[in-house]
Amino acid sequence: MRNISEVIVESKYLTALTGAGFSAESGIPTFRDEDGLWEKYRAEDLATPEAFWRDPELVWRWYAWRMEKVFSAEPNEAHRSFAELEKMGILKTVITQNVDDLHERAGNKNIIHLHGRLKILMCTKCGKEFEINSPPKIPPLPRCECDGLLRPGVVWFGEPLPEKDLRKAQEEALKSDVMIVAGTSAIVQPAGSLPLIVKREGGLIIEINPKETAISHIADFKIRMSAVEAMRKIMEEICKLLNEEKS
Ligand code: NAD
Ligand code: ZN
Repeated sequence: MRNISEVIVESKYLTALTGAGFSAESGIPTFRDEDGLWEKYRAEDLATPEAFWRDPELVWRWYAWRMEKVFSAEPNEAHRSFAELEKMGILKTVITQNVDDLHERAGNKNIIHLHGRLKILMCTKCGKEFEINSPPKIPPLPRCECDGLLRPGVVWFGEPLPEKDLRKAQEEALKSDVMIVAGTSAIVQPAGSLPLIVKREGGLIIEINPKETAISHIADFKIRMSAVEAMRKIMEEICKLLNEEKS
């Protein structure tokens, strides 16, 4: 942990890539863990444009359930540690695959949402966006002024990522000399390849995940702990290091 904390403190451009596991300790289930199932459906069968147009009410009921969970969840200690690192000028950008808003509620300012946000509803007809603070009550299906059906403002499986956000994330990866990859299985692409860019450019990867993932083989440091446990230990070490520097 001391080594890792030194790498973090001495980094020139530290970024982080987070996934569903980062919010798991805030009570938001990941897609692939055991409790990631809703009724009898798999996320992969609901979070697609095909599923939405086949049965918008089913998909909307699932999203209303997820929105409820996300809107009532609180940022955890790992989110707060990232906000602290950003305030200290160490962490430059958080690139997240999460559609919750826990990084912003914890206090981070530089966040790239690669997969959109649950707080945004989009009109499928005119493209207008609406920000919400509570889930729509289903039925009826939520509609725009233009009568178009509204959909959650997230990226579904099979859909391209917003070009501007992806480009920005790639630029951030290119600049990173260190990237923390936390709570992601790194199998959803292209997000999962951002650590490869860092590595290719000679940067270091710190992985935080209780389990082996698709990028574990390129990680320079692997912390097999939950995000909260790992960040607590890292922040303790960073505080010690900075105090030693002062005295
Ligand atoms: P994933 O479900 O594929 O992987 C989750 C990873 O988190 C796993 O590797 C697991 O070992 C790890 N994990 C579980 N608990 C953890 C903990 N306490 N601390 C650290 N790691 C932990 O998630 P993904 O890689 O983000 O990709 C799936 C897609 O799911 C993304 O596109 C994302 O948009 C979406 N999603 C988002 C949320 C959210 O916004 N909170 C929740 C579920 C799914
Ligand atoms: Zn509209």
